[in-house]
Amino acid sequence: MRSELHDPLPARPSPAEQGHARMDSATRTLTQPDLADTPSAAPSAPDPTLPEAAPPSLAPIPRDGYIKHYEIIRALVKHRLLGTDHRWRVEHCGGCRGDQFARAASLGVMISLPPFQFIYWGDVLDGTMFPSEIGRQWVQAGGAMKTGAPVSFHNDGCVSPPIPLLNVQSMVTRRTPSGTLHGPEQAVILHDALLAHTMHAAHHLKRDNDLGSITVGKLADFVELSADPYAVPIDRLVDEVKVNGTWSNGKRVDLAAFMDQIAKYPPIGAKQQARVAALKRCC
Ligand SMILES: [Zn+2]
Repeated sequence: MRSELHDPLPARPSPAEQGHARMDSATRTLTQPDLADTPSAAPSAPDPTLPEAAPPSLAPIPRDGYIKHYEIIRALVKHRLLGTDHRWRVEHCGGCRGDQFARAASLGVMISLPPFQFIYWGDVLDGTMFPSEIGRQWVQAGGAMKTGAPVSFHNDGCVSPPIPLLNVQSMVTRRTPSGTLHGPEQAVILHDALLAHTMHAAHHLKRDNDLGSITVGKLADFVELSADPYAVPIDRLVDEVKVNGTWSNGKRVDLAAFMDQIAKYPPIGAKQQARVAALKRCC
C-alpha cells in the first residue's frame, strides 16, 4: 500500500507547464520541452463502485495493521481517490511524537515539518511554554525520518521568513539562533535535511518529475550557491553559503524588480485571492 502511494508517476508535464524551460541532456543548456515525446498516460480513474465495507486484498498485514490500512482505503474511496497517486501528508506536526509519525508512515502518509517553530520559538518552548522533556523535543525531525517516510521541511511564510539553509542548519545542529541546544537526539544528517527541502518537498507536491533536483528533463528552476554545503562546518552553513541567484524558467530572477512588484500588489487583492482559493477543493 505504502509503496503504491509513493511510486512517482511517469514524467507527464501539465498543460500549464508547456513551454517551461527544461534542462537539456546534450548541452546542459536550457531548452524548451518537446512535449510530443512525453507519455500521456493518466492515472486510472477511481472506481466508485468499490464497496466501502470490503477493502481490496493486500499482502498479509498484522491485525492492527489491517485496521490502519482499512482506514486509509475508506478515505481513498470516500474521496474517490482509490487507484490514483494521491499523496497524503500531515503538516506542521511541531509537537508530534515518534509513535505518531510511525503511524502516519504505516498508513503511507508523508510528513512535512516546520523547522521555523524550533528556530524562532525553541528557546521559549523548552522549559517556559512546556516542560523541557516536551519542549526540547519540538520538531522531532530525527524521529520522523527514522520512520522511512519522505519528510519535508517548510516555512509558513506569513509568520516566518523562508530561509531554507537556516532550517537545514538548525535541524542538523539542533541549536536555535541563541546557540542553545535542544533535543540533540532529534538531529538529522545534512544530506537528509537537504533532501527535505528539495526532493522530498517536490515528491509531496507530486512535482518530483519537474522539481527537486538539477536533472535532465526537469524544469530549469534552481539556485546558485556561493559554496558547497557539504564543504563548510554545519554550524557555519548560513554564514558561509549564500544564495548568489535564483533561476526560474531558465531565467535569472531580478530580485529587486520582484520585490517592487510585490510591494505594489494591493493587500485587498491578496485577501480576495485567498477567498477564491479557499473555495477550490482538490477532491
Ligand atoms: Zn506549517
